[in-house]
Amino acid sequence: MSAVTASARDWPLFVAGAWEEAGPRERIEVENPATGETVATVPVATAADLDRALAAAEAARSTWARTDAWTRSALVRAAGAALARRAEEVAATIVREQGKPLAEARAEVGYAVETFDWYADEARRLYGRTVPGHRGDARLTVLREPVGPVAAFTPWNFPAVTPARKVAAALAAGCPVILKPSEETPGAAFHLAEACEEAGLPLGLLSVVCGVPAEISGRLLASPTIRKVSLTGSVPVGRTLMAQCAEHLQVPTLELGGHAAVLVFADADLDAAVERCVTAKFRNAGQVCLAPSRFYVERAIAEPFARRFAERAAALTVGDGFDPATEVGPLASARRLEATERLVADAVGRGAELLCGGRRPPGRERGWFYEPTVLTGVDPASALMVEEPFAPIAPLLGFDGLEEGLRLANATPYGLAHYAFTRDLRTAQLALEGLEAGVVGINTCLTSTVEAPLSGVKQSGIGAENGVEGIEAYTVVKYGQVQL
Ligand code: NAD
Repeated sequence: MSAVTASARDWPLFVAGAWEEAGPRERIEVENPATGETVATVPVATAADLDRALAAAEAARSTWARTDAWTRSALVRAAGAALARRAEEVAATIVREQGKPLAEARAEVGYAVETFDWYADEARRLYGRTVPGHRGDARLTVLREPVGPVAAFTPWNFPAVTPARKVAAALAAGCPVILKPSEETPGAAFHLAEACEEAGLPLGLLSVVCGVPAEISGRLLASPTIRKVSLTGSVPVGRTLMAQCAEHLQVPTLELGGHAAVLVFADADLDAAVERCVTAKFRNAGQVCLAPSRFYVERAIAEPFARRFAERAAALTVGDGFDPATEVGPLASARRLEATERLVADAVGRGAELLCGGRRPPGRERGWFYEPTVLTGVDPASALMVEEPFAPIAPLLGFDGLEEGLRLANATPYGLAHYAFTRDLRTAQLALEGLEAGVVGINTCLTSTVEAPLSGVKQSGIGAENGVEGIEAYTVVKYGQVQL
């Protein structure tokens, strides 16, 4: 229990088209990671709430599936526009509940709005096909139809865009959605529900609930109403939900963790590589699934790269996300701060050298702040190199040549994103082909964009979001044959 600010907002649930105040329901406190104060509460959904959400999704299912694509498109676009109209409020909610700098929160809301806009377009492009049969009197068609009601679960690190990817794509495809955002950062998802309501989307098509995650997934996935499950989250939760999907054979899309490697080749543009790696590494205080988290630098340039990287990292301003000078906000929770401290202590205990950071900023007693940290001489067996760090820590290691680089980068069970910096076309092409990940960036570590698929291989997930793949995930294929 932490101090409650006077302006703390009590989020209601959005169930079956109605806003439900906490009433007799228990409440979960939402904390500002920059101050440790409680800035909001969210009600714990009851079994009855979940059953009403399921019944509403079931009731909305066939009407929405039959609604013509142009109408669905217009409503999804209107929801995006309604979100854009409250962009400043949503961005402020994100800073208050999650901690990222205001500029990053604004960019995230912009990305969420673009996501609605993109899927509004894609709603009209879910084409089927006709197939020439081998009988002259047979007509073969292949249709894409909505899969049915979706249960969606989203993490705390991108509270607006991860719900937007699921909600916009599912609605555009013709599916109702029950969304469970992270209880640590629920506000943006409720703003999104307000936007959908304001846009005039049919009531009951979207419900947003919070509570006890395992109870919510247990109740929703045990229902045959739910035909599709979409999670953005960690590998262990992905495994749990996938096992639950087995009962009713719901198809999961799982966007899970990552441990992205960067290969910096000796021929790279050093200034650009340092700048782009530092920006991507410390965005959202390192709490980004696509963030580079293992830096392999060719030995010929290891020393200048490390020096410049550490200088840039040490110069970043750490502070409250509402302060315009802030470049790196607090970690999202005491849990994340403890994990970061543990990873650094473990690496240093195994002989790593701290080039900068490695501590909470002096004088900041409140909040979960941690300095951007750069380490060299890291033992590859360090926890930092093995588990997904999700922290503002950059370990720098050496390598020589493409073959060794690819071997080191791929030596992880994760396969979400990897990166390489080089000016050599052959190296670039072979790195693109040889890196085992759903996303590869060459000379960039900022790749996420709505028009291209985001997906993980190996243990980083199943299926894709964004791009045309992101809407197809909410469809099933029907083959029809008409005999004349
Ligand atoms: P998490 O797996 O702990 O939680 C994700 C969501 O699942 C939350 O809403 C959480 O409440 C819910 N959840 C937890 N247990 C559940 C259960 N038993 N049943 C149903 N829901 C449950 O992840 P997190 O800590 O919120 O987010 C960080 C993780 O998300 C990292 O691993 C990160 O890499 C990953 N992530 C991946 C992507 C991607 O696109 N691949 C994007 C952002 C974050």
